[in-house]
Parts: sequence; C-alpha cells; structure tokens
Amino acid sequence: MEKREVAEVLKAPAPHMVGDGFRVHNFFPSGYKIDMNPFFLMDYGSKIEFSARKNPRGVGVHPHRGFETVTIAYHGAVAHHDSAGNSGVIYPGDVQWMTAASGILHKEYHEAEYSLNGGPFQMVQLWVNLPAKDKMSKPKYQGIKQADMPVFNLPDDRGKIEVIAGNYKTISGAANTFTPVDVYNARLRKGGKAEFIFPKENNTGFMIIEGSVIVNGQESAKADSFIYFKNEGDLITIKAEEDSVILVLSGLPINEPIHQYGPFLMNTEAEIHQAIADYNQGKFGYLEE
Ligand code: MN
Repeated sequence: MEKREVAEVLKAPAPHMVGDGFRVHNFFPSGYKIDMNPFFLMDYGSKIEFSARKNPRGVGVHPHRGFETVTIAYHGAVAHHDSAGNSGVIYPGDVQWMTAASGILHKEYHEAEYSLNGGPFQMVQLWVNLPAKDKMSKPKYQGIKQADMPVFNLPDDRGKIEVIAGNYKTISGAANTFTPVDVYNARLRKGGKAEFIFPKENNTGFMIIEGSVIVNGQESAKADSFIYFKNEGDLITIKAEEDSVILVLSGLPINEPIHQYGPFLMNTEAEIHQAIADYNQGKFGYLEE
C-alpha cells in the first residue's frame, strides 16, 4: 500500500467573529484555496475563554439552502433552534448534522447554563455540499450524542476513533449522509497510533484539535493546524506525541458547478436568485428571534 503524502500543514488563519458567540478561523474556502470538496467550508473555533454572561452570545436567525451544516463541539455548549421545529444542545463530543437542503432558518447560541458560568469554548462547523438532485430535498436533523457514537477502540488502550460518518474499519458512522464522506474524532493517548485508508480521489484533511501528532512518520503537526493531503497514495499513519484529538475529514468530491451567495450554496446563478426570492417571501418558514 502506498503512503498518502502530506501536501501542506496549514496554520490557523486570523480569526473573525460570527455573531458575538463564535470566534472562528476559516480554513476554507476563504483562508486557504484548497480543494476539500464536498466539504465547502470549515470554520474552526480554537479554544477561547468566554466570561460569564446572563444573555447568551451567539448568532441570530439566518437562512441556509443547498447543503448541510455539521457542528462538532469540543468545549462549551451550543443551543440550536430551527424553523423545521428541531432544537437541541451540542455538548462536548456531540455532533449536530443539520440538513438545510430546500431551506431552513436557524439560530445558534451558547447554551444558557454554559453562558451563565462562562468557560472554555472550542468547536468546528463544516458545510457539506449536497448533490444537485438532493439540494431541494426536505430539511432534516440528526443530533448525535457522544455516548451514542459508534467507536473503534485502538489496541492496548491507546485511544479510540469515534465514527461520526462513513466507515472506519468494521465500524459504521452515526450520521446518514447523501454522498460518501468520512468524519471521525480520533482521540489518541500519548504514543497511540492509528492508520487511515481512503480512496485516492477523496479530498482529505486532518484538523488537529488538541495535542500534536507525527504524520506518516515524518511531519509534525500541532493543535490548531490542518494537515492537507495530496490525492496520491492511500495510507495515512499518525502517532500522538501527547494526548491528542484529531478531526479526520475525507470525502468523494461532487463534480458539479458551485454558486455560493452568503448562506446559499447552489449549482447555478438562477438558483441563487430563486433562493433569495424564496427567503424574502418567507418560504423558509418562521423562527422567533
Ligand atoms: Mn448557520
């Protein structure tokens, strides 16, 4: 089996605020021009300490159409409500896989009790594109608790792979997806090793959430950096230099045209105009601020 080489180890770009609750580093598509299709966007909220506050920080009611938002919490807690009637709280280790598809309104805030106490906050939000045939399907919501996450335990108690989506060895992921994507939280103890095999055509990158790892026995990557791989070879190995958490992303690209305007991700300009018109006409439903 051929080794899949690292293309680059990318440092976190300068952060910006989303609302007043999410300080994020956008690795793509703004921060770096890397091809992670079908992952369209990754906002990484590096660890930050929020002070206690009675009124939770966050981002108010806004629309999405044409893709899925995937929110993965590491520290702190996020409360969510959407116009399809779904709501939930994402605690550390939990994942929210929200299919906006034909259109929803939602709001994302710090969970009330977390906000009252303040404390560390760290999360990731991904935008996963949908193929044209599914863009206008019905919105859907998958709230996945860490306790329910399928897990592959590494030998000798050296860590575990939580399979959020796709497959890792014998384990199938918790989330249903529209196209083939693998999303895992790899939690390795110091000295722990894991191997990953993905098809060459998959776009692949590892977000180092915590700790530091050696990739393919060569390159070192620390917390807050993103390891972007070439589309050559298939086998990736990592070894944790200290207790580490790695968000593993790999997906088969959707080879269709992309037109984005703000929170809408469609195939054509005309579909973007339609999304704006539908939003202005209240067709995304209603959600109280
Ligand atoms: Mn949103």
